[in-house]
Amino acid sequence: MKVGFIGLGNMGAPMAANLAAAGHAVTGFDLAAPCPEGVTAAATAAEAASGAEVVITMLPNGEILRRVAAEIHPAMQPGAVHLDCSTVDVDSARAVAEAAASAGLRAVDAPVSGGVGGAAAGTLTFMAGGAEDAFATVAPLFEVMGQKAVHCGGPGAGQAAKICNNMILGITMIGTCEAFALADKLGLDRQKMFDVVSTSSGYSWSMNAYCPAPGVGPTSPADNGYKPGFAAELMLKDLRLAQQAAEAADADTPLGLAAARLYETFVEQEDGKGMDFSAMLPRFEKRGRG
Ligand code: NAD
Repeated sequence: MKVGFIGLGNMGAPMAANLAAAGHAVTGFDLAAPCPEGVTAAATAAEAASGAEVVITMLPNGEILRRVAAEIHPAMQPGAVHLDCSTVDVDSARAVAEAAASAGLRAVDAPVSGGVGGAAAGTLTFMAGGAEDAFATVAPLFEVMGQKAVHCGGPGAGQAAKICNNMILGITMIGTCEAFALADKLGLDRQKMFDVVSTSSGYSWSMNAYCPAPGVGPTSPADNGYKPGFAAELMLKDLRLAQQAAEAADADTPLGLAAARLYETFVEQEDGKGMDFSAMLPRFEKRGRG
């Protein structure tokens, strides 16, 4: 397939490289990052999009996505699919889908789970929103870049699934970290705590697969000095998107709000910037109730 790829950062570069390695003709553009091996460099986003059957965007946020969409839609061929894999607000995803439709194009929002490791290994999970026929067109690309793609519904449904998932993740990570800090103060051995909780009703992905305590459970960023992994800033971004959506939809999300506030303090006023999101555990360790 002829593919345009815009946004060749930490995630986009390995995704584009995997598509090229699988035999797709990939033309890429990024304002700053170089093109990975196998990807032909274009001089502008519009040039990368021109003549492509599918144009993938992997960009930092909704504002940039809207700007890039306005640049590429006029250059895309009729019926082509704009596949946005960035994590953005639901409103931007829906606005871009509408803009695509009025330009005679199709759109799919398909944010990913799996991080940089999943992007490199081609094992991402895609959660997609958009029309059935557009999803079917891009499905072969999902197969190269990921291990699973769930068609969640119409435009914006992929972003909705992503922020709901990550709101749960933020909340369970905080809960797991504060429970470890409490267990420490109660004199409970961390390995024993893991052995019990990981096989009891307190288990979660945060405890079982990404344990925030170093030396306990499977290898995780905690075993690497809390180097990300999934950075606390990115968790904050996703929790803010969840709050933005909750406000717009009038949904009561008190724990999501508390998680957003805690990550905000951690990243903006404490030492969370540049740390993995599981570094909430050393944060709690240092503190008392006061
Ligand atoms: P990144 O900052 O490494 O990459 C973004 C790229 O977009 C950069 O290379 C930047 O130069 C480029 N860019 C910005 N504006 C541009 C423009 N106008 N035209 C062309 N290129 C432009 O970010 P990333 O880690 O690759 O994340 C990309 C998206 O994926 C984000 O929405 C993020 O939330 C999401 N995501 C990231 C992870 C992760 O673990 N990194 C996991 C899941 C989802």
